[in-house]
Amino acid sequence: MAENVLILGTGCAGLTAAIYAARAGLNPLVLEGGQPGGQLTTTSEVENFPGFVHGVDGNELISNMKAQAERFGARFAWDRIEKVDFSGATKKLVGGEATYEAKAVIIATGASPRLMGIPGEKEYYGGNGVTTCATCDGAFYRNVPVVVVGGGDSACEEALFLTRFASKVILIHRRDKFRASEIMVQRVKSHEKIELALNCTPLEILGGADGKVHTIKVKEADGKIREIACKCVFIAIGHVPNSQPFTPALKVDENGYFVAEANTVGTQVPGVFVAGDCADHVYRQAITAAGMGCRAAIEAERWLAEHVS
Ligand code: NAP
Repeated sequence: MAENVLILGTGCAGLTAAIYAARAGLNPLVLEGGQPGGQLTTTSEVENFPGFVHGVDGNELISNMKAQAERFGARFAWDRIEKVDFSGATKKLVGGEATYEAKAVIIATGASPRLMGIPGEKEYYGGNGVTTCATCDGAFYRNVPVVVVGGGDSACEEALFLTRFASKVILIHRRDKFRASEIMVQRVKSHEKIELALNCTPLEILGGADGKVHTIKVKEADGKIREIACKCVFIAIGHVPNSQPFTPALKVDENGYFVAEANTVGTQVPGVFVAGDCADHVYRQAITAAGMGCRAAIEAERWLAEHVS
């Protein structure tokens, strides 16, 4: 029998959708994908989620959301959707473990930060000096030098944000031309706390006996190796939205993010909704993802009431 609502993803968006859909009596089935809990499980403390005066551990926040959804009857299973058929009234989704049928689907599969794939990156990722989120982790690095890697708008934005905390922000970019908009480049270039390291390709991230980052090794244009001292490396080389199995059934933009219908979280396929970082390259925050998850569940509930007997 077809599920009422199948929710894909257990980050903030998917779990909030699960809480709302379960509380609405829809008995949702929620699939945890490749990274159960989403991006919050890779960060240490979340200081900007409203309601937690002293911050909250990312894993704790996620496991509380899951327990809250379970309390209202949401069911969880592990699977990764590989293929979909949205052509009929009942949506069909093929996973590695099983095939699912659902009347409504909420896709909250998130986006994965692009990583460089260099030694040290995975080893120190999380609380030890490698991260992909200045908004989440910037405040932990006060009055110390930090590095941002990338030459796009994200890298410039992260570098500017980090000037609030760090003693110095070294922006490492592998070319001397930026992909970022001119206005962002000018802001970065004119900021007294930002130092540019252009034509520098990151090679390795190194740490000390304390298990924390202290250096990033880069190769300069002339082949010289340079070591840059820093307490944290913020990687801002883009995100990869997890939308691939759902195209071409659903519309995505040139970067692969789902494009919802104007002012909604609905897609081109009636009964299919999108929420969180797979559909949002602008805000990318836990709270905005949760908000979209809430909207998706409410829209799904209304759509089911109007269109499915
Ligand atoms: P992006 O524009 O794709 O830039 C990624 C940057 O990372 C590029 O400079 C690229 O270098 C570099 N890079 C990629 N792989 C790398 C690697 N393995 N090692 C070292 N460097 C690497 O990504 P984004 O900055 O996240 O922006 C994504 C989209 O969101 C863009 O359309 C952007 O305009 C938009 N955005 C807008 C704002 C804003 O308007 N406020 C803020 C953030 C993002 P190369 O240049 O050499 O390829």
